[in-house]
Amino acid sequence: MRRSNLALVLRHLRDAGSRSRARIAVETGLNRGTVSSLIAELIDRGLVSEGDVERGGSVGRPGQTVELDGRGIGGIGVEINVDYVTAVVLNLTDEVVFEHRVALDVQALPADAVLDAVTELAIRALAACDEQEITPVGMTLAVPALVDTDDGVVAFAPNLHWTKVDAVSGLRRRLDRPGFAIQVDNDANLAALGEFAMGSRAGTADLVYLTGETGVGGGVMVDGRLLRGAAGFSGEIGHMPLNPGGDLCGCGRRGCWETMVGLAALLRMAATPDDPVCDPSLDLEQRLSVLRDRADAGDPRTLDALKLVGEALGLGASILVNVFNPRVLVLGGYFASLGAYLLDPMLAELHARVIAPDACEVALSTLGFTAAARGGAHVALEAVLDDPTLVAVRHRA
Ligand SMILES: [Zn+2]
Repeated sequence: MRRSNLALVLRHLRDAGSRSRARIAVETGLNRGTVSSLIAELIDRGLVSEGDVERGGSVGRPGQTVELDGRGIGGIGVEINVDYVTAVVLNLTDEVVFEHRVALDVQALPADAVLDAVTELAIRALAACDEQEITPVGMTLAVPALVDTDDGVVAFAPNLHWTKVDAVSGLRRRLDRPGFAIQVDNDANLAALGEFAMGSRAGTADLVYLTGETGVGGGVMVDGRLLRGAAGFSGEIGHMPLNPGGDLCGCGRRGCWETMVGLAALLRMAATPDDPVCDPSLDLEQRLSVLRDRADAGDPRTLDALKLVGEALGLGASILVNVFNPRVLVLGGYFASLGAYLLDPMLAELHARVIAPDACEVALSTLGFTAAARGGAHVALEAVLDDPTLVAVRHRA
């Protein structure tokens, strides 16, 4: 009972912001003495701190406010993608306290070697937590894959060439950190949760997120909840067969949307295979900035490729908008980096094909290539919001 009341008060402070104990009591329906005692415990656990004096409040006398603190608590998100591995550490207020990306040609490596690289990066993130006196509470791995989240198994990741990789137990064994929670989820799902929590359209209850990477995935938020499907495999929008008989997809089928708008499709149209922009050992954002520079300089091949991808993006997006009627469609990954060139042809196609008036807003992600890792870190921190007693009471001087 006390544990769930601690969680109730902590979540309320996160969602509603700094306020007085009296106001928390009124808004949560708990009595004032209980709230004071819960707040005292949350302060002892380093999750809440005293704020300013509340002025002009409608409830009771002006009082000392309290606010979510959690600077000493960290959640780790690590994303594996085709060209890179990224780690992000967030504190409980969703501030980034560590971020690092390593270029890695994941397709050329066996899964064990990739998990070794993830472990190395996780150890760096854990060291950063130690340096900043942050207690890490857990880690979420984001993978472009069908994921069995209950068992921690990557069932099928076509673009990584992974089938049935026991990622969570592999990482648990390597990190050897008893009590440290590790989970795995689909990258687009985590990115959608990240956008919902801290993106430029945070809190938008009906939101569709599209990842633009080698793979194209989707995370669909309906009424503030992630749509997962019967077996947890929803959102595989990159494999909508929009050009049956077209190019071969990483999934083994032909003409998937991904073969038209994935990063590989763009690079194939915009450059020759020996062009450095196609070299997976170079940093992806640098490669994209080269493409952007070429587009800025008016290079016809680059501009034609971006126009074709933009149109194909609008074609597939129109299906999603017709099905889900989202308030906002957030474009992530390379779709955001090259959004200045993709957006016009995309919107023209979208508006021509969406049946509802005032088709949804299309926004470029401000979280860039860190959206999935941030979402993963955020999800790791959710455990503390569910059960604040996971964080030990600090020794008082
Ligand atoms: Zn496919």
